[in-house]
Amino acid sequence: MAKYEVIIIGGGPAGLTAGLYTSRAGLQSLLVERGICGGQIVNAALVENYPGFPDGIPGLKLGSLMHQQAVKYGLEVITAEVTSISQGQAYIISTTEGDFEAIAIIIAAGSEYRKLGVAGEERLSGHGVSYCATCDGFLFRDREVAVVGGGDTAIADALELSRHAKKVYVIHRRDQLRAGQVLQQRAFAEPKLEFIWSTVVEELVGEKILEELKLRNVKTGQHSILEVAGVFVAVGLMPNSQSLFPILDLDDAGYIITDETMATSSLGIFAAGDIRRNSPRQVSAAVGDGATAAMSAFKYIQDQRNEVGITSP
Ligand code: NAP
Repeated sequence: MAKYEVIIIGGGPAGLTAGLYTSRAGLQSLLVERGICGGQIVNAALVENYPGFPDGIPGLKLGSLMHQQAVKYGLEVITAEVTSISQGQAYIISTTEGDFEAIAIIIAAGSEYRKLGVAGEERLSGHGVSYCATCDGFLFRDREVAVVGGGDTAIADALELSRHAKKVYVIHRRDQLRAGQVLQQRAFAEPKLEFIWSTVVEELVGEKILEELKLRNVKTGQHSILEVAGVFVAVGLMPNSQSLFPILDLDDAGYIITDETMATSSLGIFAAGDIRRNSPRQVSAAVGDGATAAMSAFKYIQDQRNEVGITSP
């Protein structure tokens, strides 16, 4: 079985920063990512609030640069899904590409799109139902589409979609947006956007492709139909933690509880980025978490070597 000093789970900004730091610290480091490296930002057309890029930077490019930088300093990256973690003298990380041993683990597995959980959503996913405006927006040139949600993602998606679509409805369950002021101001100034307030989607309807949405106003109880060619679901994220990490303390929403050193309830396991409780879910914050987790893992490994006598692989 291949042995590493530290294994990082997840290749978003938190995981890649952790890998950069552990590799530069001379630790034998492996990063396991199930998709492409970069994390959620690969879906962002332009990241405007990451310091160092005054004109913004495409998310895909930023993710790719972070990946390149970490690999340059010796981080090994494999594409695989982690299926379980077990503990003997060291940790055994089982993946779809085999088992690996590590002294310390940094979990930076991020989060995934929350679903609406309504009839038709799963069946029509990829057939008019999307979770990524940057990826699929161009498919709806001059069509009418809807975005569900009132957070930063929903509003950024609606603005992105307004570049392609004829009209963009924003369906939000309350009468006030959660999104930040800058995005709100842009959204209210965009004539292609129309807000449908205090309304939830009850069903996505269509034989083979999406044809219409069944809506309900939560204040009046009134039902209505909205004909759209596409719907972009942007109702937040869920941590990728539930099934994978039963050995860790999680909060009620499934986020991993850490202290300020990013240590979890299991000795030698650290968590960083969106997957940890109270993460602000910003790239800059994820990068900070990754650096902190890496430095904590380094200290833990040094202590293990000194106290328990574990040697390098
Ligand atoms: P979010 O902030 O959690 O917002 C989710 C939105 O979906 C909320 O408006 C929520 O309504 C609504 N919602 C949740 N469950 C719903 C359901 N079942 N049915 C209908 N509506 C539902 O998620 P996010 O917008 O994806 O943002 C995630 C994080 O990334 C945030 O911290 C955000 O600041 C950050 N982010 C930042 C940027 C940026 O440009 N700075 C861009 C994207 C994301 P309520 O408001 O009623 O709760």
